[in-house]
Amino acid sequence: MTAEVEMSRMSWTEYAHAIDSRDPAILIPVGSIEQHGPHLPLATDCLIPEAIARAAAHRAGALVAPTLTYGSKSVPRCGGGQHFCGTTSLDASTLIAQIKDIVRELARHNVSKVAFVVGHMENQWFVTEACDLALRELKMLGMRQPKLMNVGYWEFLSKHTIDKVFGDSFPDWSLEHAGIMETSIMLHCHPELVKMDRLEDHAPAALPKFDLWPYDESLVPASGVLNTAKGADAANGKIFYDEYVQSLAGALSEAFGDSR
Ligand SMILES: [Zn+2]
Repeated sequence: MTAEVEMSRMSWTEYAHAIDSRDPAILIPVGSIEQHGPHLPLATDCLIPEAIARAAAHRAGALVAPTLTYGSKSVPRCGGGQHFCGTTSLDASTLIAQIKDIVRELARHNVSKVAFVVGHMENQWFVTEACDLALRELKMLGMRQPKLMNVGYWEFLSKHTIDKVFGDSFPDWSLEHAGIMETSIMLHCHPELVKMDRLEDHAPAALPKFDLWPYDESLVPASGVLNTAKGADAANGKIFYDEYVQSLAGALSEAFGDSR
């Protein structure tokens, strides 16, 4: 039987024992409910970091706390924007407040290492802000400050893999929204949720290099996909996934030392 890594499936006594006896890192996926084209589910940015965090937790002796399901607002240049039906976002202050509260609670549990595994690009700086505010508050309360890691899982992809899978057609991470990488990983981890017959084939979105509000919705492809996912497949998904899992496990020991 493999050890349980999901905090929400453990009893409080099992969880407390794990914290006291081996001081595991707690991984928290931070996702979004956001359109990902007609072919991927709204929770794509939750499902991918969740799968990676669980597998990395098994390797690194860490635990995974429940996912922060709602994320910060979708920005046209990397998520398609807020105008799509289904995209359900938080004000940044709400996301920051949630993260801050969770860090304070984990600190109260005597957790000493927390890693936020971000699945939605727009969340990243707000996680950074929340980590800073949480540590400041803990310091003022005289509580022990855990180490906090903030990482977007896509950062772990090596140039070697990018070249191997994309050749010279890698668009840019921001345009990879609902594109080849996310679609391939979903085909590997959750094939039942991917509708490949609904894939649209179009050129990468031609979005300006600046943000402007109110934004021009007509610049965003109507499908919500910023670059076609044609060419996505489960085999490439496994390559991405394996690299992310291995790299996240490695980053945890690099940042926190060995959790076992
Ligand atoms: Zn996404």
